[in-house]
Amino acid sequence: MHGLVHPTQDLDGPSIIGKSLQFVSYRIQTHNIFGYGYTTFLTHFDCIYLCFLECPRGHLDDNRDLKKQLMEGLDYLKDEREKAEFDVEAMKVAWAGSCEAFQVSDRMAKLVANDPVFEKFRKPTLGRKEMFKNTLRKAAYAWKLINDLHLTEEEAKWLRHYIDEPNYTDLQWEMFVPALEGQGTEEQKQKWLPLAKTMQIIGTYAQTELGHGSNVQGLETTATFDRKTDEFVIHSPTLTSSKWWPGGMAKVSTHAIVYARLIIDGHSHGVHGFIVQLRSLEDHSPLPGITVGDIGMKFGHGTYNTMDNGVVRFDCVRIPRNQMLMRVSQVTKEGKYVQSDVPRQLLYGTMVSVRQTIVADASKALSRAVCIATRYSAVRRQFGSRNGGPETQVIDYKTQQNRLFPLLASAYAFRFVSEWLRSLNTDVKQRLEANDFSTLPEAHACTAGLKSLTTAATADGIEECRKLCGGHGYLISSGLPELFAFYVPACSYEGENVVMMLQVARFLVKTVSGLGYKQPVGTAAYLGRATPLLQNSCAVQTGEDWLNSSAIVEAFEARAARMIVSCGQRIAMFENPEEGFAELSIDLVEASLAHCQLIVVSKFIQKLKEEIPGKGVKQSLEVLCYVYALFLVHKHQGDFLATGYLTPKQASLANDQLRSLYAKVRPNAVALVDAFNHTDHYLSSVLGRYDGNVYPKLYEAAWKDPLNDSDIADGIHQYVQPILKQRLHLAKL
Ligand SMILES: Cc1cc2nc3c(=O)[nH]c(=O)nc-3n(C[C@H](O)[C@H](O)[C@H](O)COP(=O)(O)OP(=O)(O)OC[C@H]3O[C@@H](n4cnc5c(N)ncnc54)[C@H](O)[C@@H]3O)c2cc1C
Repeated sequence: MHGLVHPTQDLDGPSIIGKSLQFVSYRIQTHNIFGYGYTTFLTHFDCIYLCFLECPRGHLDDNRDLKKQLMEGLDYLKDEREKAEFDVEAMKVAWAGSCEAFQVSDRMAKLVANDPVFEKFRKPTLGRKEMFKNTLRKAAYAWKLINDLHLTEEEAKWLRHYIDEPNYTDLQWEMFVPALEGQGTEEQKQKWLPLAKTMQIIGTYAQTELGHGSNVQGLETTATFDRKTDEFVIHSPTLTSSKWWPGGMAKVSTHAIVYARLIIDGHSHGVHGFIVQLRSLEDHSPLPGITVGDIGMKFGHGTYNTMDNGVVRFDCVRIPRNQMLMRVSQVTKEGKYVQSDVPRQLLYGTMVSVRQTIVADASKALSRAVCIATRYSAVRRQFGSRNGGPETQVIDYKTQQNRLFPLLASAYAFRFVSEWLRSLNTDVKQRLEANDFSTLPEAHACTAGLKSLTTAATADGIEECRKLCGGHGYLISSGLPELFAFYVPACSYEGENVVMMLQVARFLVKTVSGLGYKQPVGTAAYLGRATPLLQNSCAVQTGEDWLNSSAIVEAFEARAARMIVSCGQRIAMFENPEEGFAELSIDLVEASLAHCQLIVVSKFIQKLKEEIPGKGVKQSLEVLCYVYALFLVHKHQGDFLATGYLTPKQASLANDQLRSLYAKVRPNAVALVDAFNHTDHYLSSVLGRYDGNVYPKLYEAAWKDPLNDSDIADGIHQYVQPILKQRLHLAKL
């Protein structure tokens, strides 16, 4: 291919039409890197675009409209969309959870997408400072919109979500405000919440230190009570006690909830939260005794580097006594440490709420990656051309389907489990208000486990989607590298994933060891039927037998119960159970995963028992549910076989059935990702564009790279020419 011009330059009009017709059957010869050539047939519209590219430069303005008519507004995925066997609009509602939820998110997505202030394409080429400033501008503009348009809290949440740039407001709304609400006394809430909710103060959540993250009890920052002045002295005694990571803290936050070891009269009372002012509300400078800065660039380029994750050290900073968060325990004026009658478990309630959001975010992030990979897989053609016909769409390759469709199914599965978690969260809150703490350990274990499962699967899934897009997936303009870089820390923050699974394991082992006297509840209730689950074996005899929700649930229950009971029995053989727990921790994490997968599968099945309106919607979701479950059976068949619940024949029937289900997903694939209702702005992916107009837009995006500002880049004369001209010895290097 030669003679290409910059696609933003317009081209000679009249000759285009004639040329474009010829180009309908135009072939180009391309060569791959191994040097052998093969013929690529372009689609009709690719050809028209090529024709533009081959035309002489000039006549810019006359042809802009014509080019637009030919290139824009065409739906290259129309054929795919016409194959759909379900009502896409109804599926959008099923995905969103309700008509109202759909309308709110749709309205906010469009508000952001249509506002030039929120454009994102420039971000990857900006330097850190420019990028940070640009994010501050967007956050300020968003706050103005929220106020000017009188957006509700729910609308504001969606607006921030669609802006899609991590920044200090995430910490303000998702950590600082909830921590005040959950851990503050009534007086504290009355004082601090109005300030926070009107953004007169900006807060962050400062728990992690350089030396300790997961092990909160290992935190070293101290808060020493000074009876004489009725103050706490916040201090960082060692380098490793420096607070490290809090978002927004480096440059923006005026306040932080600082977690520190409470010391009274030389005696430690464990870690508590304290409201500490970091910066002057007048000129924003750090207050005396506070050294604060940024911890440096993070993985990826744009993504999390819009956030000023910070480091702070306190040098004997004094705060009034009433700035310790005192809902659960108080320090009196006399220096007496008092536990209130509010149980400590109440703090779990906040965690349940935060982790529910994380699971919901996992489904959003995975759906985004899957949407890009599915649309691109339908556009991309490789090999398989017969008699000069088009090549095969890569989505038709079984291997592509086997990697892609389970991820598509997972996005739906995570969406529905997060919806269920929302109701669990409401239930937990109501029970807490009624002083009923009976379900809290189970709810806590369940959300910790689901946080771990969904974030790990989503991070892996995004990376798989990148690979599913071949080489182009590696381009920033595919949207996938930045999405991965943005998403992957979810595996570490808000509870490191393995540490979370170990917490689930503790709960499960405790549950099975107490079976004689305590009936398990909620998601652990099946363990109450451990005896039959350990004895029964799977009844599946044919592939179709796997398309039965009871058979699926029982298989997952039996696998999880057997793995947990086996761990419990092996731990019991140790003299010291803690030693046993540590020794068996690998098996325990696997058993926890099995338990959490059971929850996701059974909540998907539970969703299908509800009424889901719309032609073919429920049927399509049923197919996805079986794909999700059978994919897991196949992936973890080692567990199912080793626990003796499945025979090799049954495992192989499950796999055959899974593969035949792919044929049912295939015609609906593009429509199933359309149902996520993601705007092109939100996807920020050339490969995942709604209209499938991938190649011209990839080409166009490439030319926007700063290196293409000139034909001869900076540095060529200085560093390349001396080599070429054999004058390196004279060059100033
Ligand atoms: C992008 C980002 C934003 C963040 N924002 C904030 C914030 O706003 N505020 C804040 O306070 N913190 C924040 N953090 C910090 C985050 O909460 C911690 O990094 C997280 O809790 C994990 O702790 P860690 O780094 O100490 O990991 P570690 O616990 O040191 O983990 C290291 C490894 O050790 C393993 N490990 C640890 N303990 C055990 C165990 N008992 N058994 C087996 N294996 C174990 C883990 O599985 C992991 O593989 C942020 C982190 C990131 C990446």
